[in-house]
Amino acid sequence: MTTNQMISHPFVQGRGKDFCRGCGETKLFSGVNLGNLPIANELLPTKESEVEKFPLHLRVCSNCGLGQVADVVTPERIFRDYRYLSSVSSTFLLHASNYVNVICRSGMVTTNDWVLEIASNDGYLIKNFQKYEIKTIGIEPAKNVAEMTRALGIETISEFFTTDLAERILSENGYPKLIIANNVMAHVPNLIDFLRGLSILCGPETQISIENPSIANILIGLQFDTIYHEHYSYLSATSVSKLSRLHGLHLSRVEELTIHGGSNRYWLSKLSGNNFTDESVERVITVEANNGLFNSRNWVAYSEKVAEIKNNFLLWLRSTKESNGKIYGYGAAAKASTLLNSINVEIELISAIADASLEKQGCFMPPHGTKIISPRQLFLEEPTDVVIFPWNIKDEIVEFLRLNLPIHTRLWCVIPELHEVGR
Ligand SMILES: [Zn+2]
Repeated sequence: MTTNQMISHPFVQGRGKDFCRGCGETKLFSGVNLGNLPIANELLPTKESEVEKFPLHLRVCSNCGLGQVADVVTPERIFRDYRYLSSVSSTFLLHASNYVNVICRSGMVTTNDWVLEIASNDGYLIKNFQKYEIKTIGIEPAKNVAEMTRALGIETISEFFTTDLAERILSENGYPKLIIANNVMAHVPNLIDFLRGLSILCGPETQISIENPSIANILIGLQFDTIYHEHYSYLSATSVSKLSRLHGLHLSRVEELTIHGGSNRYWLSKLSGNNFTDESVERVITVEANNGLFNSRNWVAYSEKVAEIKNNFLLWLRSTKESNGKIYGYGAAAKASTLLNSINVEIELISAIADASLEKQGCFMPPHGTKIISPRQLFLEEPTDVVIFPWNIKDEIVEFLRLNLPIHTRLWCVIPELHEVGR
């Protein structure tokens, strides 16, 4: 199948069930099936609100290595009320400002250039370019979130990134020197159109910087709670290398980061025939193959391990409750939703979930309507046990909780297996 045939194939675009969303081939095997779950970042306004559930089944393409869920839920449905704000986490804020400082101080971008960020969220990253007086444009489809960056004086386009938008931006602004697309490629149902859009805006001098958790972490790190409907695709160096080439782009370097429990930063440039390739590309691709990422047998064993983790957590919740434990959650994040809904946890086991985000407080977590409270309320209710759901930022949460809870309150994380933290 040629690239042109693949792109025009009616079943390729936006699928993930029968056809690979990236390369169009049909060689998909089952990674892990989590059943029918609510949309992970969607909280309930009242305890009795109806919960809509959709299948959540990760499949892996043995041709290009792309992990994917069937896109039964449209982006318009998922993102109509988006409450995830990056600035809630001090870890993300520091990560973003460090990145921009390195970029600007290295001279990669200067005041003569401009920078595009796709999925600029609340401006937590792009705002750091202001002090270097570098022109930026953000793209953020969630209108309520885009307003936040506009309020900071940052030009923001509130649309999904498509080839049409890429062409419009190019005609109005020319090529950007740097395109940043962090934690967004996973959220794109039409990956082909997204990659074509990147290719349109990638001039001879343009660098594209993409951060995304690796599917290696889902398999090796047992991070099944990072599988959500809004994550249509699960990337690896192998799949990014193969898919970018289909669209005239070249993977030149891979940086392995600790953020989000293990992410890769992929550097792409225009495919020219004499591109530089850092040794990291081959190294990471080899590690991925050696870890059996694209071997269906490994994923069968993985599904059994996931079932064991979920069962152990449920048994622990029940036994702790029976011993008069007062169990609370911390962090009403998407990870909490995937975990709690995939075990269909009984309402009485977790008293409430605390979250620092004012946007989430007062809402309820599906499926049964566990209340989301403020951290202050959590401290007043004197929990015996607190389960920290966003394990990727557990250090900052443990530090915060330890300052405000007595030492006998036990703190836990469930991934990669239930364990006590912060002792
Ligand atoms: Zn594929």
